[in-house]
Amino acid sequence: MKRSIWEKENSLAAAMWNNGKLDFPVYDMHGHMGPHNAICFKHCSAEDMVAHLKRAGIKHLVFSHHANLLGFMKNESVVEICKEHPDFLRMYAGIIPQQQETIKSDLAMFDKWSPYAVGLKILPIYHNHKLEDKEYEYALSFANERKIPVLIHTWGNAPECGIYETICKYPDAKFFLAHCCFGAWDYAARCVNESNGNVWLELTAVPGERGIIEKLVEMVGSEKILFGTDLPWFDEYQAIGGVLSADITEDDIKNILYRNIEKLLGTDW
Ligand SMILES: [Zn+2]
Repeated sequence: MKRSIWEKENSLAAAMWNNGKLDFPVYDMHGHMGPHNAICFKHCSAEDMVAHLKRAGIKHLVFSHHANLLGFMKNESVVEICKEHPDFLRMYAGIIPQQQETIKSDLAMFDKWSPYAVGLKILPIYHNHKLEDKEYEYALSFANERKIPVLIHTWGNAPECGIYETICKYPDAKFFLAHCCFGAWDYAARCVNESNGNVWLELTAVPGERGIIEKLVEMVGSEKILFGTDLPWFDEYQAIGGVLSADITEDDIKNILYRNIEKLLGTDW
């Protein structure tokens, strides 16, 4: 039977509406930081973003800084930003395929960046590469050996980008498919269902689409979906609202917002 969030007085959505936050932690597994030339962000400094995380009840935001992804800021500098806000900020080390020496020297430092660096961020299309290109081999082998997360930017052209082939080649890396291969939902589901159990769909941009969260839960199960926002591109409240408003069970909602990632990374990271 279809569930309406307004029918249930004690629903999670009602709690969010009344209290401004949920009574369990929420993990945002896909964020950014800093200005970007494509858009004007009013609140994109670490201080402003952390204030917003506190307001919305986010336990950790795992982000990659725009300047880092564009090659202008070292991963080590992003670690320093995290250290300023140790309770809230975690990072993905940005992997830029054109900077092979930096990839090697950065990954040699990865353990020293604990607990701030939790995984790697790869944006093949932004860096004019396919995920299966040899320039990613060193980083993906590293993630595979360590069994750490790799957040990969994906969109509807995912089937042409070598994603399925790559996740099969590195069966122990934990792949988070950012934006759930937006639009190529069947392909995203195939990546989850026909992999080694090492693939999760990350929801950034999806909560604005009616009916898609329900469809993804049906296709892969809520245990394989993670919450993310692209903050400051999208907002925590909008994205949490989209998940709470989806026609899925409260268990599904809790899996997406915190249980799945706590199963993967624990509660103390
Ligand atoms: Zn992003």
